[in-house]
Amino acid sequence: MSTLKIMGVDEAGFCFGVRRALQLANEATEKHPEVACLGPLIHNRQVVDDLRARGMRVVETIEEVPRGSAALVRAHGAGPAVYEAAREREIDLIDATCPFVRRVQQAAARFAEDSYQVLVLGEREHPEAQAIVAHAGGHATIIENASELDSIRVSDRVAVVCQTTQRLDTLQELVSALLPRIAELRVANTICDATSKRQKATVSAAQQVDLMIVIGGYHSANTNRLAQICRATGTRTEHIESADELRGEWLEGVSTVGITAGASTPPEAVEAVRRRLLDLAAERDQPGDTAPPE
Ligand code: SF4
Repeated sequence: MSTLKIMGVDEAGFCFGVRRALQLANEATEKHPEVACLGPLIHNRQVVDDLRARGMRVVETIEEVPRGSAALVRAHGAGPAVYEAAREREIDLIDATCPFVRRVQQAAARFAEDSYQVLVLGEREHPEAQAIVAHAGGHATIIENASELDSIRVSDRVAVVCQTTQRLDTLQELVSALLPRIAELRVANTICDATSKRQKATVSAAQQVDLMIVIGGYHSANTNRLAQICRATGTRTEHIESADELRGEWLEGVSTVGITAGASTPPEAVEAVRRRLLDLAAERDQPGDTAPPE
């Protein structure tokens, strides 16, 4: 039996919204021979390639989708014009908008209806933030941080909503900067806690193990952040994209390993790492069994 203990982080990998979107995408490919996805479903090439092999191609706009066929709205959501175009062109629209994202869209629409100036705290180029603006009738303004308040005209009645991945301290800074300037402020804290929960659980695991393995794309911002916070605990940390990058020598003198994963890392990739770690530990513990015959 292996002497290696492996500690997995429960919140690691896909969040609820991404899992749900993937399930809807898989069901859509079973129902339709061809489905268009409005933008890549998630930032994981393997998953996108796999869906493509099953008939799901990625398009930029609903106009590229043939009349009468099927299309999927990903977890980031889409503006009302997309739903309207789908209706007009009899496209079967499968809506995988994350319910937490939907909540932001609804809050923005409500505030716009009540004649507030709507500020969306988020990334200007991010499709989720742009769809939120569209749900506010296009009257909302995306703001990336409090310092941008100086470059826009701020009315006396302002409502703030946030892109779901924003940080609480960025929202707090914006609220503090707005309060002294205006007569009325409404705030919908629409931050989703999937990211912060994953980070907290990862720190807690890193504090209990000898080695931390972080799985996810080298270009994935949230995975790099996980690796960074693991290293900050002082625990040795290795960031890998897949199980074949694991090295036997990393396990020298190691009795417990923690595994965590970024938001776009599929559960199969995490399981493959766990199995490979156990194999490497077995080789370490019984080196004689794995030596090639003379
Ligand atoms: S809002 Fe939260 S649960 Fe939904 S997709 Fe985004 S991170 Fe995932």
